[in-house]
Formats: sequence, C-alpha cells, structure tokens
Amino acid sequence: MIIPEFEYLAPGDLQEALDCLASHGEEAVVLAGGTDLLVRMKQRLVKPRFVVSLKNLEGLRSIKEKDGVIVIGAMTPLVEVLESEIVGKYLPALRQAVGKIGAPSIQHFRGTIGGNLCLDTRCLFYNQSQFWNSGRTPCHKNNGQTCYAEENSDRCRSANQSDGACALMALGCDVVLASSRGERVLPVEDFFTGKGESPFTIELDELMLEIHVPVPGEGAGSSFQKISYRSAIDFALVSAAVSVRVMDRRMEAVRIAVGGAGAAPLLLKEAAATLMGKPIDDARAIEATSDLAKRHASAFMVENLGSSLEYRQKMARILVKRATKEAIAIATG
Ligand SMILES: Cc1cc2nc3c(=O)[nH]c(=O)nc-3n(C[C@H](O)[C@H](O)[C@H](O)COP(=O)(O)OP(=O)(O)OC[C@H]3O[C@@H](n4cnc5c(N)ncnc54)[C@H](O)[C@@H]3O)c2cc1C
Ligand code: SF4
Repeated sequence: MIIPEFEYLAPGDLQEALDCLASHGEEAVVLAGGTDLLVRMKQRLVKPRFVVSLKNLEGLRSIKEKDGVIVIGAMTPLVEVLESEIVGKYLPALRQAVGKIGAPSIQHFRGTIGGNLCLDTRCLFYNQSQFWNSGRTPCHKNNGQTCYAEENSDRCRSANQSDGACALMALGCDVVLASSRGERVLPVEDFFTGKGESPFTIELDELMLEIHVPVPGEGAGSSFQKISYRSAIDFALVSAAVSVRVMDRRMEAVRIAVGGAGAAPLLLKEAAATLMGKPIDDARAIEATSDLAKRHASAFMVENLGSSLEYRQKMARILVKRATKEAIAIATG
C-alpha cells in the first residue's frame, strides 16, 4: 500500500507546533511515532493534507517524579517507559501493558506513550484497506449511516484497544493538553468521549503534552492482563487492569478498567466498590466483582474484534479476576 501525498511539517519547538495546528485545523494530523497513523493513512482511513511531526519536541520525552506525581512526556518512546525505574517501581500495570504493545520492534522503534493513549478506536469492519472498504457504503465511523458490526445501530461501536490506555485508566492519571489558547488538565476519564466516531475530547488544535500519574501510596499494587490471538503483534480481544491499595489486609482505592469493550477503556466503578474494605483473601468478593465487571463490560461489546462475543465476555471476567489477584499480590509484596 502506498501512502498518499501530504505535506510534512516538523516544527522546531512547542509554540511552532501549536501554531501549525491552529492554522491548519482539520487538514492537519499529529505524527508521533507513526506506527498507527501511517497504517491508517495507507488504508486511506485518514487523509490529511499536513502531517505535523513532534519529533523535535525533546521536552516531551522524559519520565520524572515530582511532588508526588509521575510525569510522563507524551513523546516518551515505549521502550523508555518499559525500562524506566520509576515505572517499574510504582506502576507495574503500565509496565506490563507497554510490554504487551505490538512487539519489541514497535516498542523499540518508534511507538510513543502519547500515541498509544491517542490510539483511535478499532473495528474489523473499518480497519481495512481502501480496496476492501470500496465494496461497501461507508459506516458511521466513515461518516456514513450504517454499522456492519451491529444491525440497526445508530452509532459506531468500535473499541478502544490501547493497552496503555486501559492501564492508565486503572491507575487514574491526568492528561495535560495544550493549544495556542493555553493548557488544560483532564482526568483520564474525561479524555474519552465514549463515542466510536470521535473517541477523544482533544480539540483539533490541541496536543497532548504529558501524562500525570499520582505516585501510589504505601501498600499499592496494580496489574494489567490481556488476551489476543497471537502473543505478539496483536491487539487485545479484551484486556483488564486493576489498581488497589492494601491497608490492614483490606482493599482500598480499587480501580478496575476493561479494554477492548467500549469506545473508551471502561472504568467499572460499581464493580470496584464491591471490593472496597473487603479482606484481601475474600475469594467470594473477588468472584462477585469479576461477575459484575463481566456484566457491565458485556453491555458495551459487539462482535467486531475477531473472536466470538461470548468468548470475549467470558475472558473479561477471568482477566479482571487475574488482575485483581495479581494487584493484591504485588501490593502485599
Ligand atoms: C502491527 C501492529 C501491532 C500493534 N499492536 C498494538 C497493541 O498490541 N496494543 C496497542 O495498544 N497498540 C498496538 N499498536 C498500535 C501502535 O503501534 C501503538 O499504540 C503505539 O504506541 C502508537 O504510538 P505512536 O507514537 O506510533 O502513535 P502515532 O501512530 O504517531 O499516533 C497515533 C494517534 O495519536 C495521535 N497522537 C500521537 N501523539 C499525540 C500527541 N502528543 N498529541 C495529540 N495526538 C497525538 C496521532 O495523531 C494519531 O492519531 C500496533 C500497531 C501495529 C502496526
Ligand atoms: S462498529 Fe460499526 S460503525 Fe463502527 S467502525 Fe465498526 S462497522 Fe463501522
């Protein structure tokens, strides 16, 4: 597949990048590592006139701990997240998730954590070549009026399959966005719209600058789990991440996220609430939570990621259970 023509812009600093986005509006797209964007451009799913590369924005490439917050620059390569001592020490779920993205070639070559968090939603009936798509009328995600994944659906049911986004949802981060109008900070929940057609609340002239994750307190643990057809170079059929703090052998501050289900990683607050205050060896509570997580995640799933719907739903339950147990094990050393 040949990439269509476009004008390549490589601003020298942040201000220049923001000015570029402000002046080119919807004709421009942001290029980080390009491991996702360039594929979608080849498939003609995105047809930008201008591609604005962030490669010169060195300031967006670091991982630091400052005033109780872990600050990860959006342009930090996946391999640096993977090898970071800070991430390894405090954010095991993020480390596991990044280790599951594609393959070492993507993690070591160009993929970035910001690009991963901004990964567009996906669907088997959409992420295809122009030739494959040419035999059908466009679906909702392509500005059409139909959905091939679910008959009569009035909206797009494509799924968020970003491994990093699922982990970061469970870890409870904020994202820092900037435009030439100024900066704003959003809780990760508010970064996603939940709509397959337009999954993010980021504006056309905005860039993601940083991801802020609070340093988890004493007794914290987290875990990310994923299943896919192949063990590498494959998106999640479903994934789950859990973070927990253990105090006096009881669970506190539980966050549960499920990926590969809805257009955003699902933050399952009700399921998490059923674990709060429970002893860490309360197997029945963990079973009940996993059942509830499966029920809630199932409501968002349609058969558009490859395996059967039933299998993905069953695995949602199993992955939440595994992630909960592993997060507790990590928290308790
Ligand atoms: C074969 C293959 C397998 C893959 N497997 C996985 C997988 O298992 N799990 C997974 O999660 N991903 C997977 N990916 C997707 C992708 O490689 C990763 O998500 C990667 O981290 C994307 O980062 P990038 O820097 O290359 O993003 P890019 O491709 O450069 O950008 C992705 C999107 O984010 C936007 N963007 C990037 N940075 C910013 C920013 N700072 N501000 C605003 N918008 C921004 C871009 O405009 C674009 O829309 C796979 C890709 C391939 C080709
Ligand atoms: S879920 Fe439906 S509308 Fe969305 S990309 Fe798939 S086929 Fe298109």
